[in-house]
Parts: sequence; C-alpha cells; structure tokens
Amino acid sequence: MPVDMPTVLLAIVVVACSMGSAVLVSGWRLPRPDGLALWGVGLLLLALGFVLFGLHGWLDMPWLLWLGNVLLSLSYALVLLALEHFHQRRCSPWMLAGPVWLVALLSWGFLHQPQWRVPAVDMVLLGQWCIVAASVFRCQTGPLERGRWLLLLGASLMGVVYLGRLWSQVMGWSQIDQLLLSQLPQVLTHFAGLAGLVFLTLGYVLMTKERADAEFRQNARLDALTGVPNRSAFLDTFQHVLAQAARGRWPVSLLMADIDKFKVINDTYGHLAGDAVLRAVAQRLQSGLRAQDTLGRYGGEEFLVLLPDTPMAGARTLAQHLRYSVEQMVVPWEGQSIAVTISVGVYGCIPDGVQDAQALIDRADQAMYAAKRAGRNRVEVADVALACA
Ligand code: GH3
Ligand code: MG
Ligand code: MG
Repeated sequence: MPVDMPTVLLAIVVVACSMGSAVLVSGWRLPRPDGLALWGVGLLLLALGFVLFGLHGWLDMPWLLWLGNVLLSLSYALVLLALEHFHQRRCSPWMLAGPVWLVALLSWGFLHQPQWRVPAVDMVLLGQWCIVAASVFRCQTGPLERGRWLLLLGASLMGVVYLGRLWSQVMGWSQIDQLLLSQLPQVLTHFAGLAGLVFLTLGYVLMTKERADAEFRQNARLDALTGVPNRSAFLDTFQHVLAQAARGRWPVSLLMADIDKFKVINDTYGHLAGDAVLRAVAQRLQSGLRAQDTLGRYGGEEFLVLLPDTPMAGARTLAQHLRYSVEQMVVPWEGQSIAVTISVGVYGCIPDGVQDAQALIDRADQAMYAAKRAGRNRVEVADVALACA
C-alpha cells in the first residue's frame, strides 16, 4: 500500500498538537502540580519539530533540520521533567539538558554528513527514552497501575522505533536523509512512534487520574477537621482487628475519650476555638500511641482508640497517660490559653469471633460515662465481670 510521507508527518503533527493542547489546557494552573502542563508543552514542541522536518523536506534548509532535531530532543526532556514533577522528585540537570545539548552539537557537527548525523542523533534519542522508561519504573510504589503500564508500553515502543531506525540504517534499507520519501522502514517507524505517543499521553493522563482517585478514596476515610480516621474507617479497621484477634486469641482493648465540658469551650471562645481544641486533642492522642494503634473520631468531641494485642491493664495505663498528656496541654487561642481535659472509658477482651464491634464500643462508652459521673478528667475501666464476656 503506497503511503504518502507528507501525510504521515501531517498526521503526527495533528495528533501531537491536539493531544498537547488538550493536556496543556487540562493541566493549566492546577492547584496541585501534576506536570500535565509540561507534558502538553512537550507534545507541542514535538509537533513543531515535525513541522520543521517537513519544511526541510521541501525547502532543503539544513538549519531547519538542526532545529527540528533539537526540538524533538527538548520535547523528550520535557516528558521526563513532567514525570519527575509528577513524583515531586528533582531531576538531574545533566539527565535533562545533557541529551539536548548532545543532539544540538551532533546534528550541527554532522549537518552535511547524514550517514553520521542520523545514527548519532537517533542513539541519543534512544537514550532519552531509556531514561524515561527508567523514571517510570523508578516511581513504582506498589504494583504497577494501568497508567504506568501504558507509559512503559509507550516508552518501550519509542525505544523500538529508534532501534528500528538504527537497524534499517545499518542494513541500508532506507535513504536516511530523504525524509519525505515513502520508504517502508520510515513509514513503519513513524506509525509506531505515533502509537507510542498516544500510549504515553493516555498513560500519563490515566496516572494522574489514578492518583487523584486514590487521594479521594483516602480523604473519604479521614475526618476533615482532625485528619484522623472517621467513624466508618475506624469501624472497618476495628472489625478487621477483631477478626484477627479472635483467630490468634490475643487481647484487644478500646478507649473512648470524650472532651470534658466542650460545650462550655465553644460557648466561651467560639466554635472555631472549639475546632482548634479538637485538632489539638487529636494530635495529642495520636502522639501518645504506637504505630499499630488506631485513633478515630467517633462523633463530635469523642475519640476512639483501638489497641490491638493489649490487655485491659495495659490499656488502662495508656489511658491514664493520655489523660494526663491532654491535661498538661494548653491550646493557644487569640492570646488566651484554653485548658482541656478528657474523660476516658476503657474496655478490653479476648474476642471469640462472635462479638459485635458496636457492642464493644458501647462498653467503652459506658465506662466513659462512669468517668463523667465520677467527676470528669478521669479514667474508668468497664466492669471486669463484663470484660471478657
Ligand atoms: P461533657 O463533659 O458531659 O462531655 O459535656 P460536653 O459539653 O463536652 O458535651 P455535650 O454533648 O453537652 O456537648 C458537646 C458539644 O460539642 C456540642 C457540639 O456543639 C460540640 N461539637 C460537636 N462537634 C463539633 C465540632 O466539630 N466543632 C466544634 N467546635 N464543636 C463541636
Ligand atoms: Mg464532652
Ligand atoms: Mg460527647
């Protein structure tokens, strides 16, 4: 099938331009920098590079070819910069600017010797795609998500394109300086490059979407005011820990902490001061816990603490420590200091697998109300007779 080379070049320009501008618009001035704008600019530079290649084919002005090569290398550098930006990593200037300088020097030095220029520049561009592929692989934090798979596929395809170009030059299959000549190796590599660009851009956009989705899911499980797990996230963890404890026959304890006279704090200092107190108490409680413990906001000014592998005696000691720690704290508010205390109810048992999480929370809640009745700023342990029921 005869393929018209200018049409192939035009297709690359149109696809790169439309994808580039779409990505640029969607990434423009985002509150969180995702590198999308950089990616968009990279695609537009690539399109410009191919425009210059096409013009060179018609006008035969060598500097157009030189500039086209530099723009192509610059666009690949921007792809790398966007990736590093996405992962908030600092990219070595050598990795970014080095290949662009090399392409500029080589294509200028061999401007009239295409037999050297084309393979030399292709090798540098191949190296740039290897660096991009390494960058995609390096950012792997867990299993590869779909976005990164697409990126890797795209980067590999671009690598194959340059390997194919080098191979066809070695074998003498194409007249390498005749860009507008319809030659099969050239047509194939250009189409593969176009597919690579589409995979790369879709992969990058998908990767930003996957990260936004993960953050959204994570935020939906956190209390917006205090940043600790909300009630439903806490209950999920609690049920999971209860099931594990029942299997392993190890104890689980629960603390219910309620801020004393919180309504008075709100009424005296205002609701915003109350919010600041809630945040401060959450931080205080969190800082007194082990990594395996879970703090959750259960309701307005009530916090739950889940203590896996902790018998009730140990939980009581920790509760005393937390109560004392909060008592020692003062929350600064508009030049004043707000004093805060908490009442804590403690409940613990070795679960047998049939207990309902809510029933255990109710026991800790009852103990907390006992602490309130006994005068507040206290720790009360649930009825021992009930403790292992
Ligand atoms: P007690 O010592 O018996 O626990 O008394 P209390 O005043 O702490 O308890 P009460 O249940 O009477 O009042 C709790 C108050 O907490 C009422 C509610 O307006 C306030 N509250 C609930 N959620 C928030 C919040 O997110 N921010 C602020 N500032 N206040 C809240
Ligand atoms: Mg209260
Ligand atoms: Mg309360």
